[in-house]
Amino acid sequence: MSKIIVAGAGHGGLVAAIKLAKAGHEVLVFEKRKKDETGYPQSDTIEKSAFAYADIPIPENCKTVRNTITFIPMEKDVSSFTVPPGEDDSVFIDRKVLINHLINLAAEAGAQIFFETEIVAPIMLGNRVCGVKTAQQAFYADLVIDACGVYSPVRCNLPDYMCVNREIKKYDVLSSYRAYFNRIPNVPLPETTYNVYLRDSGTVGFTWLVTEEDRVDLLVARFRKPENEDILKIMQTMHEENAHMGTELIYGGCHATIPICQPLAVLVADGYAAVGDSAFMTYSIKGSGIAYCLRAGTMLAECVINDTQGFYNAEKLWAYQRRFYKEIGFSACRIAIIKNILPYVSAEQANELIKQNIISTEEISKLMAEKFDAVLNAKGMAALKEKVKLVKDNTLLKGIIANLAVWLGKFAVTETAFPAKYSLQDVRKWSTKYNEFFDSIRAK
Ligand SMILES: Cc1cc2nc3c(=O)[nH]c(=O)nc-3n(C[C@H](O)[C@H](O)[C@H](O)COP(=O)(O)OP(=O)(O)OC[C@H]3O[C@@H](n4cnc5c(N)ncnc54)[C@H](O)[C@@H]3O)c2cc1C
Repeated sequence: MSKIIVAGAGHGGLVAAIKLAKAGHEVLVFEKRKKDETGYPQSDTIEKSAFAYADIPIPENCKTVRNTITFIPMEKDVSSFTVPPGEDDSVFIDRKVLINHLINLAAEAGAQIFFETEIVAPIMLGNRVCGVKTAQQAFYADLVIDACGVYSPVRCNLPDYMCVNREIKKYDVLSSYRAYFNRIPNVPLPETTYNVYLRDSGTVGFTWLVTEEDRVDLLVARFRKPENEDILKIMQTMHEENAHMGTELIYGGCHATIPICQPLAVLVADGYAAVGDSAFMTYSIKGSGIAYCLRAGTMLAECVINDTQGFYNAEKLWAYQRRFYKEIGFSACRIAIIKNILPYVSAEQANELIKQNIISTEEISKLMAEKFDAVLNAKGMAALKEKVKLVKDNTLLKGIIANLAVWLGKFAVTETAFPAKYSLQDVRKWSTKYNEFFDSIRAK
C-alpha cells in the first residue's frame, strides 16, 4: 500500500481521499485553513448524478431544485427572458456543509486530515514530485494529489518541463464577491427570483440577485477584482430596484476566484495529479466546478487503485487524464471556446442578439444545463452558419459568430493531437498545440 498526500481539502481531492483510504492506502490531507473555516459561506446547486457517479451520499436535508433563471438585458424596452429549468434534478447545498461532509467521510475511511497546515511548494526528486513542503516541515509520499484550488502552490512551482502549470491570463478567471442579505417581510417579491443582470459589457462581468425563502443572494462577478466602491454602487442599485432586499449582511460577504477557462492541457506528471480548480475543471459558462470535482476525483482514485504496482508515474496516471478528457474535458473545452466570445460582446450587442432572437432561450437553456454538445454537432454548425446570415446588418456580431464556427473547427483539429498513450514528446506537442490554440482565440 502507498502513501498519498492530498494537498488542500478541495472537493476532488477529498473524493479521491475517501476512495483511496477505503482501498487501504495511507492518505494524508493537508488543509491550510482551520476546520471551521473550510468551505465557502454560500449555497450552490450541484447535479445529483455527480454524487451517484462518485458513490458519495448527498448530505442530509438538502433541497432538490430546478432553477429557473431569468436574464435581464440592459435596455428596459427589451424584455427579460426566462430559461426553462433543465431536466436534471440538482441539490441545493450549503458549501460549508458539503465540505465538512466530505472531510468526515474521508476521516471515517481512514484518511488523516491536518488543518492549519499550509503547503508552500512541491518537493522534487529528479523528475518526480515526491512530497510537499510546508513552512515548518517536509512530507514525502508516493503520490501528491493537488486539490489546492486555482492558485495552487504545488502546480505553480512545478518545473516547466512537466508541461502542467500555465500562466493564468486575462479572462481566465472571474473575481467574485458574494453576500446574503436579509429579506424584508411582507414586501412583494419581484416576478422572477433568480435574476442575472446583463447590464455590463462582456469585458466587465455580470451580477445576479437570487431571492431565497429567508434571504437574498447577491453575486458580483468581474474579470477585474471589483473595488469596494463598485460593489457598494451595485448593492445600492439592487436595493433601489428590489424593495424586498434588506441591507443587513447575514451570511458570506467574501471575495473568491472562479476559473472560467479550459482545463489544464496536462493534469499529471511523475508522482503528481491535479484535480478540481487546481486543474481549471469548471464549466466555464457558469464557473460550476463541484460536479466535475466529484467525477474527476473518482476517475483519479480508480486510476491510482488500478496501478497495483504503485508506480504513479505520468505513463500510468495518463489513464486518468485520458478518461477525464473523454468524459468531460473535450466538452469543457468547447464550452470554453463559446465562453470566449463573451469578452467580445458589449451589453448593447447582447441586447441585440436577444432582441433579434439570434440567441434563443432554447440554446441558452442547453448551455446552462451543460448539454451543449447537441448544438455543436454537424446540424448545430449548420445552424450557426444560418445565424451569421441573420445578423446581416451588424458586421461586428457577424464576425463574432463566424469566429466561433472557425474556432470550433480548429479545435476539432487540435483534439486529434491528444496522445492516446503517454510519451513526453507527444505530451509536449499536445500541450503546445492546445495552449497555442487557446492563446490564439483569446480576446486581446
Ligand atoms: C462565487 C462562487 C460561486 C460558485 N458557484 C458554483 C456553483 O453554483 N456550482 C458549482 O459547482 N461550483 C460553483 N463554484 C465553483 C466551485 O466553488 C469550485 O469549482 C469548487 O470549489 C471546486 O474547487 P476545488 O475544491 O478544487 O478547490 P477549492 O474549493 O478552492 O478548495 C481548495 C482547498 O485547498 C485549500 N488550500 C489552498 N491553498 C492551500 C495551501 N497552500 N495549503 C493547504 N491548503 C490549501 C483551500 O483552503 C481549500 O480548502 C463557485 C465558486 C465561486 C467562487
